[in-house]
Amino acid sequence: MTTDTLPLPTLAATGRVALVVHGGAWDIPDEEWDAHRAGVRVALAAGWEVLAAGGPAREAVCRAVQLLEDDPTFDAGRGSTLNRQGEIELDAALAIGEGAQIGAVAAIRTVAHPILAARAVLEGSEHVLLVGAGAERFAREAGLPEVDPASLLVERERRRWAALRQRPEYSTRQPFEPGGLDRPRGTVGAVARDRAGRLAAATSTGGTPGKLPGRVGDSAIPGAGTAAEEGCGAVSCTGWGEGILRVSLARRVLEGLEAGLLPPAAAGRALARLGELTGGRAGLICLDAAGRIGLAHTTPRMAWASRTEDGLPEVVPP
Ligand code: ASP
Repeated sequence: MTTDTLPLPTLAATGRVALVVHGGAWDIPDEEWDAHRAGVRVALAAGWEVLAAGGPAREAVCRAVQLLEDDPTFDAGRGSTLNRQGEIELDAALAIGEGAQIGAVAAIRTVAHPILAARAVLEGSEHVLLVGAGAERFAREAGLPEVDPASLLVERERRRWAALRQRPEYSTRQPFEPGGLDRPRGTVGAVARDRAGRLAAATSTGGTPGKLPGRVGDSAIPGAGTAAEEGCGAVSCTGWGEGILRVSLARRVLEGLEAGLLPPAAAGRALARLGELTGGRAGLICLDAAGRIGLAHTTPRMAWASRTEDGLPEVVPP
């Protein structure tokens, strides 16, 4: 087959501006719920400011995720969980609808805002995914400050790591089960549709507690934890990464939207299939090309907040 330059499909001219953010899907304990709600609300407001000013969806999702990376309530950036060796290793991806583009980084340690490193890969390289030392170097050369990984470590996670070492039977799947690991944390993400109809999705994570060094989860993998496609939708997932990877969860949601499902149904169907095939639990946020929102989770709770131009900010009730 020969392909010459094809005209890009016209972006949806109708539809609304919309933003959804999430702060992970786990059995979030009652005493942690307020902090999660507050965190997603702050991120929503920051992302919304971009969209309200007519800014691009990619900027809005990055702004929201950056704030969640700064908030140690969540398992992303500062406050990230530790791998079995007691080290921080971070994954992130930014997907934009135009041309189904995506940039991602995985297993990086020296960047406080992995989502900005993912954005740098998207905007400043011909590649999709950079990992480890190469990704760190790329981020540095792109002008992101290099940080000491110790500055991202919080005492809570050091204690969790120490406790997990005493539990050889522990599996990284456990935190997502009801009554799962004590005081769990969540991956963060955002999806947006801007005034021009452009779509974007961003996800950032410290991964699962007790993961093996070098493990890459779903968040950074196109079509697994993060996806966006013009004229179709944008998706950010959270939950048990190995299961999400095995079923390409985000891709399944886009396929549901393509087949004409509304976002809540596409989200629900994909999560149900994840459960049937792998027994895994997860959550996701998505929107379609018209800015209709879908939210679903098979974990007991998911922290999220959303806003559309025709509605008030909404945060999941306690
Ligand atoms: N999906 C993430 C991972 O497996 C974890 C999470 O969402 O909390 O790396």
